[in-house]
Amino acid sequence: MLQKIIKQLKERGFRNTKARIALLNILRKIRLPLTEPDIRAHLAKEGIRPNKTTIYRELAKLGEHGFVREVDFGDGKKRFESEDGDHHHHLVCKGCEKVEDFSIENELTRLMQKIGGKNKFKIVDHSLEFFGFCRDCRKAEGAGKMAN
Ligand SMILES: [Zn+2]
Ligand SMILES: [Zn+2]
Repeated sequence: MLQKIIKQLKERGFRNTKARIALLNILRKIRLPLTEPDIRAHLAKEGIRPNKTTIYRELAKLGEHGFVREVDFGDGKKRFESEDGDHHHHLVCKGCEKVEDFSIENELTRLMQKIGGKNKFKIVDHSLEFFGFCRDCRKAEGAGKMAN
């Protein structure tokens, strides 16, 4: 899969630098939205140390070409994840900040067509995140209550 992306990048005139490949590889491996400091820490583990500006520039460029997607959890932090066709959404835990993916594209497509039609609005993209508490945090909360 990464080979395919590398080929696509080449076709679009990207030079396949070590940092660029490592960045894409990290996003694909982790499969969850990462902040720039997260990405920088992962790159550093592989001995690659681009500065903040370079990473943001790289993410923006990859984003323009649809390889990376920016995700907004409304907490003022920019997060990025690999975009490889499996459009999905997130369950974000407000307790431990864990992020889980889920997909409801069929239902959502129907809903978007309905809403778009009703409002005469051409929907071209969407972003949907749900916020709450994960199973572990709910369990911890339950245990806390029992102790009281
Ligand atoms: Zn995701
Ligand atoms: Zn949690």
